[in-house]
Amino acid sequence: MESREMTACGMHKDGKAYPSESRRQYEYIDRLRDIFGSMYGDASGGRGQGTFSVVTFGCQMNARDSEKLSGILEGAGLREVEDELSADVVIFNTCTIRENANEHLYGRLGRLKPVKKKRPDMIIAICGCMMQEKDEVEKISEKYPYVDIMFGTHNLYTFAELLYDLLMKRGGQQILPDSHGQDILLRDGRRAMISVWKDTPDIVEELPNKRKFPFKQGVNISFGCNNFCSYCIVPYVRGREKSREKKDILEEIRKLGRDGVKEIMLLGQNVNSYGKDLSEPVSFAELLRETDSLCDDMGIERIRFMTSHPKDLSDELIEAMASGKHVMKQFHLPLQSGSDRILKMMNRHYDSEAYLIKAEKLRKAMPDISISTDIIVGFPGETEEDFEATLDVVRRMRYDAAYTFIYSEREGTPAAAFPDKVPEEIIKERFGRLLELQNSIAAENCSRLKGRVLPVLFEEINEKDASLISGRLENNSLVHVKGDPSLIGNIRNVRLLEAHGFYYTGELTD
Ligand code: SF4
Repeated sequence: MESREMTACGMHKDGKAYPSESRRQYEYIDRLRDIFGSMYGDASGGRGQGTFSVVTFGCQMNARDSEKLSGILEGAGLREVEDELSADVVIFNTCTIRENANEHLYGRLGRLKPVKKKRPDMIIAICGCMMQEKDEVEKISEKYPYVDIMFGTHNLYTFAELLYDLLMKRGGQQILPDSHGQDILLRDGRRAMISVWKDTPDIVEELPNKRKFPFKQGVNISFGCNNFCSYCIVPYVRGREKSREKKDILEEIRKLGRDGVKEIMLLGQNVNSYGKDLSEPVSFAELLRETDSLCDDMGIERIRFMTSHPKDLSDELIEAMASGKHVMKQFHLPLQSGSDRILKMMNRHYDSEAYLIKAEKLRKAMPDISISTDIIVGFPGETEEDFEATLDVVRRMRYDAAYTFIYSEREGTPAAAFPDKVPEEIIKERFGRLLELQNSIAAENCSRLKGRVLPVLFEEINEKDASLISGRLENNSLVHVKGDPSLIGNIRNVRLLEAHGFYYTGELTD
């Protein structure tokens, strides 16, 4: 098999210089391109082209990781298809934040069993947070032996290498001497690969990327989390917080501007603590200010960010947000509970009063700001009084949107061992009351903008009615207008004709 080598000076054949680890990975992508080309034919070949499908569960961080995986596979000469049942390579990028996320994966894997039986060359890979849980990996090894590759969150960047090594080993050939695959557990007989790292100090820049939307893009600013909220599995599966260097983030944004991107979203488990771990510490407020002025130069209209821990929301950040020309006046401020007793058990490091004071500061600096939140119902030991305290904060905050969750026990977290689990019927009843209250507040808030003319970034054709194009206001509310797909990717002024609780219908005014 021919391999396209790097030039001696470290330049890839595309003429760019890459840092050494990404250079290694590009080498593997080239090798895969040769292999897949001979297996399926390339894009210009007569036998059609190999295909891939990436199925994403969970949060924006996972969605961003999936774009990287898609970039690797597209670089390897495969074409993306929607339907995983017809793909040659399928990756499930998993989430483990709630138990039902795991169940979703098992359902999808079950559907692939007969397909894999008919097409044994099909490659099934699983990655993401769930793979950092030893029990889940063992369960999949035992019950779903047709899975070919499992890898974790810390070595996502080695996916091309793992795939190459699998194909080599299956063909009875040697892998490269410096391969990470030297340490990989190979299941006997079937040559399946399991490579899950506990952690890594490295952030590998300059890997391929396939953008889902040409006009908007998530930009990772940090990975992992140091907060250890007692119910949350993230610090265990994503590791400790690691910030990207500011210059790398700004360079990525500069490139996105050159590509015509209109909106960026800065992503981290807790963006507010960005930069504390860097050798030359930088605050998130500082990054936001520099991003804002760069977006001005590059023609990027909108900056959003996600997620923010209330304890790290600083006055400096509020000021940077308020003065930012392109920073959208929208803030996701997870409350989780309004009860100080429960917040303490959750290890959240704020009480309801401190939370309300910070929210008040946000509203004082930006009177039109839209604030959304996350709330967990039924945390162990939650009494009616605790729940009433949550309702009280919801009434005072008047959130524009709230993502409400039933507490889901995650093994390995401190809260899993807490006594006094709340009975299911009580949780359901409380959940219903919370939803009713929040829906009525959101509907009232939503109706405030009725009749106004506001800019909308159009994103996609409406799933239910193809004559409608859907987009987002600056405060992130959804808007549908009659129009054609040429609107997608453009910002246009829209008169909001009707408010429907959590979305609007409107008409173009320009
Ligand atoms: S801040 Fe808390 S809830 Fe958010 S990712 Fe970190 S540990 Fe989980």
